[in-house]
Amino acid sequence: LSFASCNVPQKLLQNIEAAGYEMPTPVQMQAIPAALIGQSLLVSAETGSGKTASYLVPIVSYCAKFSHQQFSNPKKPLAMVLTPTRELCIQVEEQAKLLGRGLPIKTALVVGGDAMARQLHRIQEGVALIVGTPGRLIDLLTKHDIELDSISILVLDEVDCMLQRGFHEQVLQIFRALSHPQVLMYSATIPKEVEKIARLMVKDINIVSV
Ligand code: AMP
Repeated sequence: LSFASCNVPQKLLQNIEAAGYEMPTPVQMQAIPAALIGQSLLVSAETGSGKTASYLVPIVSYCAKFSHQQFSNPKKPLAMVLTPTRELCIQVEEQAKLLGRGLPIKTALVVGGDAMARQLHRIQEGVALIVGTPGRLIDLLTKHDIELDSISILVLDEVDCMLQRGFHEQVLQIFRALSHPQVLMYSATIPKEVEKIARLMVKDINIVSV
């Protein structure tokens, strides 16, 4: 499998090439085609495996196709990535900007340490992708009325780490604010608790181990 054989917009293929990605990594070979056809996945993948691009390629592709029909950035977010830390969120947003260059895919960072009002304002202006930590997202959801029912793809990156940090309830609460999104979950290992929360969200989630 090559990136070119994936059904993604030409501009995205150019951005992938410009990023220096020649061949998909094993996790990308498994996750990208499945995610592109709308499957929900629980993927065991570690940092360094190329996991970030394995969910950002399908997200950027979806947003580009959707925005193309609208001829502009969407008014409401289409995808959301949750990670356990501010630092990881910043890296994910950077990679999303790289892969989304020249495409109408605005991003918003929703993490602690920055003014919540600014983050809220950015979302209200219209972004395609929200990247955030569960804690700050819950703050935003409970203090302000943000609508997340337009989100079609939810990514939970480093789920094992999120559960270790005690974010179990927050993650479920955020999931319940969405309306039946495609769920892409990533975890270094898949212990019972991770599989359990995955099946709570999507009964027939596909488990992918590379
Ligand atoms: P990650 O596992 O997502 O943290 O990615 C690890 C590193 O691999 C990042 O610096 C990516 O930019 C890079 N990367 C991701 N996919 C590929 C690829 N297909 N070929 C080469 N490098 C890649």
